Amino acid sequence: MSGTASDPGGPLDAGGAVVVVGGSLAGLRAVQGLRRGGFTGPLVLVGAEAHLPYDRPPLSKQVLSGKWEPERTSLAGREALDELGVDARLGHRAISLDVGARRVELDDGSSLVGDGVVVATGATPRHLFADEGVVVLRTIDDSLALRDRVAAVGAGCRLVVIGAGFIGSEVASTCSALGCVVTVVEMLPVPLVPALGETIGGALGALHGRNGVDLRTSTSVESVTASSSVATVELGDGTSLEADVVVAGIGVVPEVSWLFGSELTIENGVVCDPSLFAADGIVAAGDLARWPFHGELVRVEHWQMAADMGDAAATGLLAGRAAAPAFEPVPYFWSDQYGEKIQVIGHPSPADEVVVVDGSLDERFIALYRHGDALSAVAALTKPRQLMGYRPLLAAGASFDEALAASEPR
Ligand SMILES: Cc1cc2nc3c(=O)[nH]c(=O)nc-3n(C[C@H](O)[C@H](O)[C@H](O)COP(=O)(O)OP(=O)(O)OC[C@H]3O[C@@H](n4cnc5c(N)ncnc54)[C@H](O)[C@@H]3O)c2cc1C
Repeated sequence: MSGTASDPGGPLDAGGAVVVVGGSLAGLRAVQGLRRGGFTGPLVLVGAEAHLPYDRPPLSKQVLSGKWEPERTSLAGREALDELGVDARLGHRAISLDVGARRVELDDGSSLVGDGVVVATGATPRHLFADEGVVVLRTIDDSLALRDRVAAVGAGCRLVVIGAGFIGSEVASTCSALGCVVTVVEMLPVPLVPALGETIGGALGALHGRNGVDLRTSTSVESVTASSSVATVELGDGTSLEADVVVAGIGVVPEVSWLFGSELTIENGVVCDPSLFAADGIVAAGDLARWPFHGELVRVEHWQMAADMGDAAATGLLAGRAAAPAFEPVPYFWSDQYGEKIQVIGHPSPADEVVVVDGSLDERFIALYRHGDALSAVAALTKPRQLMGYRPLLAAGASFDEALAASEPR
């Protein structure tokens, strides 16, 4: 696909051309949304990984545990992509974007020009002491490599996880069920505070101890030294841990390296307008997209958000920037740890007041977040049916009092 792109601000010509960069969840959803919306023109999907699109949540759960083989994570096989009429350029990395011309240059020297471009290159893990054999978990290859390393050591494998965020905690949970002796080292006094605040962060952090995993909070990692097959993890409190495997789950950064030097606004992600347009004819979706939501620029790194954004980016591109609807989702995410299901709907802030309306924090619970007079979010531990009852309230912008009234036993 080459040539000159036309009329960048208007609706997408059904027979134009679109380049989607990022061959995973958000990119695939954009492709599917474009076809569903009637787009019949050439569609190219560029993906740095050689794999067909696959799902990441099982990588720290069913794939790592060995319950699933990698094939089960498939989001779309070759046949499905053919049916969508997609020219999938997998194993190819985009290296630059000319915003005015909407031209994407690839690492093989070729370039693609679209009437529309979808930017969906996700995020990449922060590395820590990478040279000392500390591993991260983002891709299917990472997951299989970690699974093999743990299996090679066998039962009693000493695993140190750096960071008690969602990925680190899932790795701890999965590996402890495999028979590993797991220590989680967390710099914060209470895990997950930036995402969920102290009350819920504390309740979720307590899952580790209840399940035999040693969680060390307010503890930094000073260094990791690997000698033959064993690593020594030096902690900020002067103690050290011997480990067979060290995993870092210390967050991700948006994968925008190929966009530096383009005219897009890059500030902790690709900055978009309310309809996910980063420029005329260019939309962003998924873990790298930062857009105005509830009065602030927000970037969310969760599955449902990436999927919804891919759909919305397609809708917006088809409508054109002037007519595109604002993207106003009800955020949702989940995490599976120690046989429990953590779920959150809405947009919690760490300073929000939290009220438990069902169960208790040291067992299973439903907790409401109050932001001013409004219900901002609802968190649940293994109460999926009750949690979903609050979705309509969040979608309708219900007050906290309305949510409390709805929580009363009837
Ligand atoms: C182990 C793990 C477990 C998770 N579990 C949960 C969970 O339980 N619940 C939940 O809500 N969320 C979970 N998530 C988060 C969720 O998977 C992500 O939010 C989602 O994958 C984001 O989708 P994306 O398409 O934006 O980005 P990605 O999935 O990161 O996909 C981006 C793709 O773009 C490719 N790419 C990068 N740079 C380039 C380039 N220059 N050119 C071409 N291609 C490029 C990448 O290789 C990648 O394939 C988990 C994530 C991980 C890693």
